[in-house]
Amino acid sequence: MRKSCKKRKGKFSNGVNKTKIIISSNSGFCFGVKRALDIARRALRKRGTIYSFGPIIHNPQVVDGFSGKGLKIIKALKEIKSKKRYLLIPSHGISPDALRKKNISYIDTTCPFVSRVQKIVKDLREKGYFIIIVGDRKHPEVKGLVGMAGRNSCVLEDKKEAKNLNLKSKKAALISQTTATLADFKEILSEIGKKNFMELVSFNTVCKNTIDRQREAASIAEKVDTMIIIGGKNSANTSKLAKTCKMVNRNTHHIESRRDLKIKFLKDKKNIGIATGASTPPYAIDEVVNEIRRFDN
Ligand code: SF4
Repeated sequence: MRKSCKKRKGKFSNGVNKTKIIISSNSGFCFGVKRALDIARRALRKRGTIYSFGPIIHNPQVVDGFSGKGLKIIKALKEIKSKKRYLLIPSHGISPDALRKKNISYIDTTCPFVSRVQKIVKDLREKGYFIIIVGDRKHPEVKGLVGMAGRNSCVLEDKKEAKNLNLKSKKAALISQTTATLADFKEILSEIGKKNFMELVSFNTVCKNTIDRQREAASIAEKVDTMIIIGGKNSANTSKLAKTCKMVNRNTHHIESRRDLKIKFLKDKKNIGIATGASTPPYAIDEVVNEIRRFDN
């Protein structure tokens, strides 16, 4: 069984057990998350204690591991007690307001793809566009983009909100959170396109890793009896992945770890698909596979 788990990517069946498990090849940490964790590890080794505005990534198990090594999660700068203050900017970035503080050294783990969107927003603002951000308004990445876009902006979460949008501006630009779904972005763009603008520009800034992950997971979900999506419940990209798979397979379950697996998810199921969010550690997949095999036996 261990041998099968190491193989991890793609289809496998151990030939003895009855359940066939298909694991998405786009599983485990994405490039941006791996990079952020490497930077944080190096900083912790050098500094001992560092602070992070919110969780470094949206996976409670991984964050707990980093807390044990000296990473302290804060919501406000006043929570920082020590005189030498090192503040880690998580992979999804933060609002520029939070960066205007003195006596703090920043350790920036913002994913380059998120930085790219921030740069586009800054540019659009300078050119006077009304900026429409497709995404989850409570997500730190979106809050950061709103902070950069300023007052001449809004966030749209779905097609209904796009339909109800009443704008005076004749010059608008549409961009997306890096972990939005392509389907939401296209639907909202189509709705906005019906409005009376003199100029509308759009930037599909959903990151490629997110798109590949969603495409492959949906294609697996179509073929299997049950689809398991592993990742933090607070992870936007994992929730969107589950939503995408649920559209093609109602037996899609979003779990954080093997502990959330229920017998009813597995009972009488011959084919099970597995995909993960971008902040899910590879060992979480092994644990779920082992749990399914235990159920088999
Ligand atoms: S999902 Fe994309 S944008 Fe987000 S951290 Fe990963 S690579 Fe970067």
